[in-house]
Amino acid sequence: MKRWKQQRLQNQAIQIGQALYQQNVDEVNINPEMDDIIDINSININNTIDDPIISNVNVSESRFLNDAIDKIKQLACDGPNIITEKDISCALVLLKKRHRLSARCMDDIISLLRTFNVPNVPSSWYRLKKSLTATQLTPIQSFICSECQEVSTSSALCSQCNCHFSSTNKPNYFFSFPIQSQVERILHYNRDILPTRRCYAVSMKDICDGALHQKLQSEIQESFLTLTLNVDGIQPNKGSQKTIWPILLVINELPLKRRFAIENIILAGVWPGPSKPSRTEMSIFFRPLVEELVTLEQGAKFQYQDDNNSSTSARIFLIGACCDKPAQALLQFLPEPIAAFGCGRCEVEGFMVRTEKEGNVRSFAMTLDAVEETYLRSNMRFDVLLDLKLLHEQIQQSFPMRKRKSLMEQHRLEEKGILGPCILRELSYFDVGRSFMADTLHNVYIGAFKRLLQLWFDHDYRFQDWSISTHLGELQLIFRGLRLPSTTPRLPRCLISYSKFKANEMRILLLFGHAIFKNILKKKYYTHFLKLVVMMHLSESREIHPSYINVISRLGKSFGINFPKLYSARHCVQVVHSVLHISDTINDFGPVHTFTTFQFENELGLLTRITKSTRRHAQELIGNLHLIQEAYCHLNNFDFMNSNFANYLFNRFACHRKSDDSKHYQLGHLRKEDDSLVRLLFPFTQIKYYQTVHVGRIRLCTRTYAEGKVADDSNIIFIFDNVQYPGKIRSIFTIDDGEPHLLVAYIANLTPLTCEIDDTENFVYDNILFATTTKWSYVPIEVKAFVEKSIFFRSSAGISYFFRQPTLDHCS
Ligand SMILES: [Zn+2]
Ligand SMILES: [Zn+2]
Repeated sequence: MKRWKQQRLQNQAIQIGQALYQQNVDEVNINPEMDDIIDINSININNTIDDPIISNVNVSESRFLNDAIDKIKQLACDGPNIITEKDISCALVLLKKRHRLSARCMDDIISLLRTFNVPNVPSSWYRLKKSLTATQLTPIQSFICSECQEVSTSSALCSQCNCHFSSTNKPNYFFSFPIQSQVERILHYNRDILPTRRCYAVSMKDICDGALHQKLQSEIQESFLTLTLNVDGIQPNKGSQKTIWPILLVINELPLKRRFAIENIILAGVWPGPSKPSRTEMSIFFRPLVEELVTLEQGAKFQYQDDNNSSTSARIFLIGACCDKPAQALLQFLPEPIAAFGCGRCEVEGFMVRTEKEGNVRSFAMTLDAVEETYLRSNMRFDVLLDLKLLHEQIQQSFPMRKRKSLMEQHRLEEKGILGPCILRELSYFDVGRSFMADTLHNVYIGAFKRLLQLWFDHDYRFQDWSISTHLGELQLIFRGLRLPSTTPRLPRCLISYSKFKANEMRILLLFGHAIFKNILKKKYYTHFLKLVVMMHLSESREIHPSYINVISRLGKSFGINFPKLYSARHCVQVVHSVLHISDTINDFGPVHTFTTFQFENELGLLTRITKSTRRHAQELIGNLHLIQEAYCHLNNFDFMNSNFANYLFNRFACHRKSDDSKHYQLGHLRKEDDSLVRLLFPFTQIKYYQTVHVGRIRLCTRTYAEGKVADDSNIIFIFDNVQYPGKIRSIFTIDDGEPHLLVAYIANLTPLTCEIDDTENFVYDNILFATTTKWSYVPIEVKAFVEKSIFFRSSAGISYFFRQPTLDHCS
C-alpha cells in the first residue's frame, strides 16, 4: 500500500475511533479498575528501570571492548580519514570517566588493544595523559606566609618578608589558573554566544532575563560575558577530614544544556587542604582570580584557533556566586551562618534561645515589621559598615584596655557582622549582598525542609503538637505510590531513611510527595507547609512570570514569619530564615535551575568520584579535569575527526548531551493481549500492541508495563482538542502497521491546587491538579500529541494528583 494512502486510512480510523469514543464508550466493558489501582506492595524498591535511556538499548555493556575493537579496526580500514592516536586517547578517557577506572586498569586496556594490533593505540596511560594535556595550563603554585600573611612564590623563603619556612612551619599553599585562556577555549567551541544576546522577554527563562543581567545589558554597549562562581570543599575520601576547595566558574551566556557540561567549566584555582581556608586565606586564594577579572572587565581579545585566525573581543563580569553557607561566610568575610549577623543577605542579628537539652541556639525568628525594617546587604551598606569598622578600630585604640571590651561589644552590634573586606567588592558588577545567591539546595531542600522533617518525625519531639512520628511507617507506604518517570535524577529511597536523603530526594518529596502529609499533619501545619511547596514549584518554573515573583516573595515571607508561631522560635534557624531571600535571588537571576548548586555539586561529585589516589588529591583532580575537558573538546571538533568514529563515540559516551529533538519513534516489547477498547475503537483493522515506545530519546510505556516497577513512564501530558490534559497510557498500538498511537486514560474535570498566601488571598496553581473521582475517560491520540512526562499520585483518601514538572532541565 502506498504510504500516503495508508496514512489517510489511518486518519480515518482515528476519526472513527474518536467519534465512537464520544458516544459508546460507557457501554463497553473497559475494566476501568485496571487503570486505577496501584498496588504499592508490588513495587520493588530495588527494581530499577529496565532499559537505560540510551538509543542503542540492545547492546550489553560486557560486549563493549569487543565492539570497540571491531569498530576501531573497521573504521580504520574504510574511512578516508584514519583514526588517530588522539581519537583513541579521547575514547579511553571517556571510558575511564564513565566507569571510574583506575590508571592501572587503563594500562591493561591499552596493552590489550596493542596485543590485538589495533593501529595508533598510545603506548601507555602515562604517555596518553602527557600528549593529551600538552596544551593545558600548568597551575601556578603560591604559598601563604604565616608571618606576613602575604603570598610568597617560594616554598623555602617568604618572597615578601624574607622569613624562612621550616618543616614545622610549612606555609599553606594553593594553585591558581588564569581564566582568559579557558574562556577562549570555550568560545572556540561555542561561537554562537557572542555577540551578547539582548533579552526583552516578559517572563524570565534564564539568567539573562534577571535584573542583574538586564542592568548590564542597559549599561554595557560592547559584547560581554557574565560568570557565576562556586567554591566549596569536597572530600576526596569518605570519612577523612581532608577537604579540597576548587573555584569553579561557568559562563552564563552558554545555553543551559552546555553551561554546566564539564568541558565548559572554568577552573580558577584549587585549595588543596587539608583543612578549610580561613577568611584571610580565602581572600589571598581569590586574589589572582580577582586581579584577572578586574582586567577582563575592561575587555579582552579572544583568538579562535582556526584557519582564518579570527578573533572577537568581549568584556567579562562576575555577577553571581552560588555557594553553601559556610563557604559563603568565608568568602563574604561574615560570621558563621549560625552566629549573630550570620545571614549573608540581610543584617538580622538573631537572638539566643534555650534548647531542650540545656544548650543555646540562635533563632532568626522575625515579625513582618522586622523583616521590612532590616537592611538588606548590598555594596552600599557594605562600604558604610566597613568604614565604620575601621573608625571603630581607631577609637578602640585610644581607650584604656579595661573599657575596651564593652566598647567593642557595642561596636560589633553597629558593624552588623562585617569582619573585613570581601575581596569580590573590587569587581564592578558584583554586589556583596545580592550577588550571593540564596541557593535552594542548601537553604530549602536540605535546609528548611529537612528541619521540618526532623520536627515531624524525630523521637525527641514526639510529644509536640506537630509530631507525626508514629505515622512514619504508614507514610512510607503511601509515599511508594508516587509514580515518577525513569528520567527522575534520583528516585527516592524508602521514607524511613529520610534523614539520609540526598538533596534530590528531598526535592522530589517536597515538590511531588507533599500530598502524603495531607490529613496526617494537622491542618495548620499542612497549610503552612503547602506555602513552601508552591513557592518552590514557582521558583523552579521553566518560565517565571513577573507576577510570580510577588507571589514567591509573599509565600516566602508568610512561611518564614509563621514558622516560629507554629514550631517555636527555637527552630527558626538560619536556613528557615533564608527562605525569605529566595524571591530576591529569582528576581536578580531568574529561575533557580539555571544557577543552583545542584548543577555545581554534579560537577564536584564527578570530580570527587574520579579521584582515586590516596595523596596529591588536588593534582590528580586537576589532571583528571583537564583530561576529560580535552577529550570532550576533541569530540566536539567534528571536522578533525573520522566522522563515523566521532558518531560512535557520541552515541556511546555522550548521548545525554546530544540534544535530540527529533520525533523519531521506536516501538518495543510487543504485547500479545488484546485491548478490548482499542479493538472497539478501530474495527476492521490490524492492530499490534506494544509495551514501550521511544519518542526521540524519551521512553514511554503502558501503565501495565510500569506495574511493579519503581519508575513509571506511563504518565504523560497530551494535547486533545487543543487542550493539554494529564493522563496515563493504557495502550500503545499501531493500526495496519502505521505510526504508533496511544490510548490514554484521563479525568476530564480536574481541580487546580489552591494555596493560602496569607489571610487575605489564595493562589491557584495550575501545575498541580487533583480529582476525587475515579471516573476515567479514554481517548486515542497520535504520538505527536504527547507533550511531556508527568507525575501521578493516588492518596490514601482516594484523591488522584497530577503534577506537571516545573522544569525538565533539572540535573542529577
Ligand atoms: Zn612573609
Ligand atoms: Zn537574612
